[in-house]
Amino acid sequence: MDYKRYLITSALPYANGPVHIGHLAGVYVPSDIYVRYLRQQGKDVKFICGSDEHGVPITIKARKEGVSPQDIVDRYHELNKSSFERFGISFDIYSRTSNKVHHETAGEFFKDLYQKGEFVEQTTEQYYDKDAGQFLADRYIKGTCPHCNYEEAYGDQCEQCGTSLSPMELINPHSMLTGNNPVKKETTHWYLPLDQYEGHLRKWILEDHKEWKSNVYGQCKSWLDDGLKPRAVTRDLDWGVPVPVDGADGKVLYVWFDAPIGYISATKELTPDWEKYWKDEATKLVHFIGKDNIVFHCIIFPSMLHRAGDYILPDNVPANEFLNLEGDKISTSRNWAVWLHEYLDEFPGKEDVLRYTLTANMPETKDNDFSWADFQARNNNELVAILGNFVNRALVLTHKYYNGEVPEPAEYTEFDKETIEIYQQIRAKVEHALDHYRFREALREAMNLARLGNKYLADTEPWKVVKTDEARTRTIMYVSLQISAALSVLMEPFIPFSALKLNEMVNAPGLTWQDIGNMDLLKPGHKINKAKLLFEKVDDVMVANQRQKLEDTKKQNEAENADVEPSKAEVTFEDFTKMDIRVGTILDAEKVKKTKKLLKMTVDTGIDQRTVVSGIAEYFTPEDVVGRQVSILVNLAPRKIRGIESQGMILMAQDADGTLRFVQPSDRVKNGSMVN
Ligand SMILES: [Zn+2]
Repeated sequence: MDYKRYLITSALPYANGPVHIGHLAGVYVPSDIYVRYLRQQGKDVKFICGSDEHGVPITIKARKEGVSPQDIVDRYHELNKSSFERFGISFDIYSRTSNKVHHETAGEFFKDLYQKGEFVEQTTEQYYDKDAGQFLADRYIKGTCPHCNYEEAYGDQCEQCGTSLSPMELINPHSMLTGNNPVKKETTHWYLPLDQYEGHLRKWILEDHKEWKSNVYGQCKSWLDDGLKPRAVTRDLDWGVPVPVDGADGKVLYVWFDAPIGYISATKELTPDWEKYWKDEATKLVHFIGKDNIVFHCIIFPSMLHRAGDYILPDNVPANEFLNLEGDKISTSRNWAVWLHEYLDEFPGKEDVLRYTLTANMPETKDNDFSWADFQARNNNELVAILGNFVNRALVLTHKYYNGEVPEPAEYTEFDKETIEIYQQIRAKVEHALDHYRFREALREAMNLARLGNKYLADTEPWKVVKTDEARTRTIMYVSLQISAALSVLMEPFIPFSALKLNEMVNAPGLTWQDIGNMDLLKPGHKINKAKLLFEKVDDVMVANQRQKLEDTKKQNEAENADVEPSKAEVTFEDFTKMDIRVGTILDAEKVKKTKKLLKMTVDTGIDQRTVVSGIAEYFTPEDVVGRQVSILVNLAPRKIRGIESQGMILMAQDADGTLRFVQPSDRVKNGSMVN
């Protein structure tokens, strides 16, 4: 089908953290390539995205930091918006779901379905925190997992054994707001009866969209085969889009209900013609998402659109799988990621290297891995050695031989004709791959044109021929220049910054996608601009630094997650009271000579002043400790350490990484006070 216009959406990033390479490879790089490709073809296209700013994780983060949810979403909205811009993700609009137009649009959408009688109203018992005066979202409840007895399981999931839970299953549930045991209280919510839409979904996906990617189609089929259940579309929460019906005070739309409507509100914000993009069958709608979002974009949102009536449904939902980092799952909480804003700061001018590497390794059909070694190899062996090398030689030689003017070609040889024939087939191959959302293949085909040019120059050797055959040299350079100009258009969707640079060098701003394959992109006599290097090598130091950064993170994570020593054997109360622990003050301290670890201290124990030797010098200088109150075991038998008699032991806490900290009273107490 020939579409009149295209509406391309990218999953709304959740505004409680920065964007990382997993998000980029999964969603934003492929959607941007696709959109740039459509624009190159002169299509009418709108590219929509924005921040998803509602939901419980944002309110939890805000509570943790002691700021408002709005503060959190403002911070990450701005950061992610500017990072995308710097990275060349060419959204027509990057909106946000906390703004007015979205609240209105989402509210109206709900109201429309409500008035059509689409929702099922259900009253159930849910946990309520009396002191906080609110119902508790799943993530606000912790308790013991009924499956593995893990005591810190959340109301929706146990992170120890991975089981999905409902809050009612938790043993000894407690509120994370107050620590109290919540009570059960009745509350009414509206449900989308997905079970009633099953027939429509089966036909629309399983029969009419067999062309969808197998990972997407397969997941949809398994959801449908398992049978769909009604899903609540509202929550008791004070952060989100208020439910716009009477008697719904304190309720908001569930975040997965309001977030996809964000695509519609953003389109509204972008153009008064928004309805053409959402309600005309001649529009092709494509959702780019990660695999964790398949159910929302293939089952739930299409059901909402379908029941609302006059909306079109997505033509395709090309979800990607996940990207790993150096063989390990990317994780925001463990800080195991390459963050976009950090990359942009640390690799200025190298946006395209990351775009290229992420595309070449895109997790299209299965999870894939990003490594810094591969990043370096892709840059040095492909971008620098093939693409950069070819166009640089073509342009530099043109300046050298012809003063930067495109020469008149003589007759083509058989070898020229073969090369030209391959060149002329490449555009169709790239198009075929992009039309089927196969971005790795598309990039490979596009790079084949650079390979072709590079090989052509190596085989024809104009730098030798120029000494003997002036006409032949003109032809070789002419062919090379046409391929260079074609690359400046063909590579644009993938590496837009470098393609633009190249386009400026060949001085051909008017070239279009349809020109690729022609042999007169740069006519004889056309003046090209100065040649500049497109890419530079990524050296071992850059790679080593990034690896070190990850190593440091790993160490820190390991320390934080280190196993706690198991409990020692039981002692009686009597055993314990034999220990005489007092609070004392360190009066004086000096390093024990010829040792690294030992400090000799004089401590006022309240009973007496005595000498204690302790192995803490790696963590504290004498100046650090003098004047501190500490806990000291005073009836420990004296022992000689390096010839000094130590009379007691100062109690220290040892952190997972070995760091020592004093165990001291929270406020000053009289020296000699007992610890018991
Ligand atoms: Zn469990």
